[in-house]
Amino acid sequence: MDIQNPFDMNVTSSPAETYIRRIIRNWADNVVIPQRRQYDEDWEEHRLIGPAFKVLLADLGFQKALVPAKYGGWNMGESDYLVTASAWMFEEIARADAGMAVAFGVCYWPFVMIAVKPHINHRLCAEFAPMYMNTDRPVFSAVAMTEPQGGSDIENIDLLHGKTIKTTAFLDKDEWVINGHKLWPSNTGGEADLFGVVCTTNPGSTRDEDMAFIFVPANTPGVTQGKPYEKAGMAGDMNGDVWFEDVRVPSWYRAHGPGLDALYFREVLTLGMMSAAFSIGPMINVYEILCDFCSRKTLNGRPLKEHDAIAAELAEIVTGIEVSRSALYRLAYMLDRTDIYGPRWSPAMLAKARLTKMFVADRCLEDCNRAMEIMGTYGADRTWDVEKHWRDIKMGQLYEGGKQLAQMDTARYYFGCKTL
Ligand SMILES: Cc1cc2nc3c(=O)[nH]c(=O)nc-3n(C[C@H](O)[C@H](O)[C@H](O)COP(=O)(O)OP(=O)(O)OC[C@H]3O[C@@H](n4cnc5c(N)ncnc54)[C@H](O)[C@@H]3O)c2cc1C
Repeated sequence: MDIQNPFDMNVTSSPAETYIRRIIRNWADNVVIPQRRQYDEDWEEHRLIGPAFKVLLADLGFQKALVPAKYGGWNMGESDYLVTASAWMFEEIARADAGMAVAFGVCYWPFVMIAVKPHINHRLCAEFAPMYMNTDRPVFSAVAMTEPQGGSDIENIDLLHGKTIKTTAFLDKDEWVINGHKLWPSNTGGEADLFGVVCTTNPGSTRDEDMAFIFVPANTPGVTQGKPYEKAGMAGDMNGDVWFEDVRVPSWYRAHGPGLDALYFREVLTLGMMSAAFSIGPMINVYEILCDFCSRKTLNGRPLKEHDAIAAELAEIVTGIEVSRSALYRLAYMLDRTDIYGPRWSPAMLAKARLTKMFVADRCLEDCNRAMEIMGTYGADRTWDVEKHWRDIKMGQLYEGGKQLAQMDTARYYFGCKTL
């Protein structure tokens, strides 16, 4: 199997990584792509999607990736190439199905708080590692952040510092008591096994010290997951309401403590922007589909791609993919080279990550739309999967605070805006 494509930039850093990339490509081509057209109807039950996740997460073992080696994991959290490796893994999975790529990425997301150097919390890693190791079923994690009164507010951390968070955590002796309502976390809808919950220890406060990131196993009394939402796309990722009612967990389930939780939560946000890969992966597949379609389909006796007007549009599409990939891997390089660019939780890195995700999501959506126009009515025909990618890429443009927050974080860093 050849994983090379005209866009490849030799992003894997070792033969072992190339091998892992091939394993994912093989899974995508053989397990996901042949059945993905049925995924839209599988949004509620995951009867097809669930077994595909089992292969990736449990059988192939990817749910162990971030867990430190001393607890049986693959130790990716200590790798110097963590972010670059995440980018090509996300891209490979998203080439087959962006929703599954989102769900996959979010399995790692709460572990950014506790399993990534230089701030590994060994006690919590030791506590939760067995959930991911000692099982043959896929284990799903979630970051419960968004709330009914405005998801973007919680992510608008440098302006609001958690001021509008309504989910509370109060200490009762040696336990946190958590109450609140979250919306949309990936891997919920009944699927989540472990939550990282963003909450406040002092409602209305604008002090970073009062933001808390607390781990909550999904089977803790008082945790309720609602049914999954039916969305425009990304059925591979289940999203729903989650309620926490007098949920009690040990006090040491808080990731790091006052100040540090908010600091490293910024890193969670920054790394979340590697979701740009969830737009690029589908576009690589759209390119593959276009190569086939435009070579076979003829107009006036010539293949479509030999017509000037079509060739110009095809050139625009690959330009978008190449430039988006350059932006993604440039960002990944900066986030891996903290020795040069500083910590991932800095406003500079958050802004660079937000603008990259915003640019890539917008451009990929435009290009996917172009692809549909080139294909005419076939672009809207589910048989070709392009309309599926178009719906998925659209969803990726909306989450993580949407365009406006990305613009504000960017303007705030580059122009020193104080009131945004
Ligand atoms: C597939 C998917 C996966 C998701 N995964 C997760 C997850 O894992 N965990 C989780 O907690 N949430 C998750 N979400 C939720 C998502 O991150 C939020 O929906 C998103 O941040 C926007 O929040 P909101 O929907 O409450 O919109 P709002 O924040 O209410 O935004 C509404 C509009 O206002 C704009 N806006 C936002 N802030 C400002 C501002 N300050 N000034 C002006 N305009 C502004 C927005 O861009 C948008 O246009 C997911 C959503 C999707 C679709």
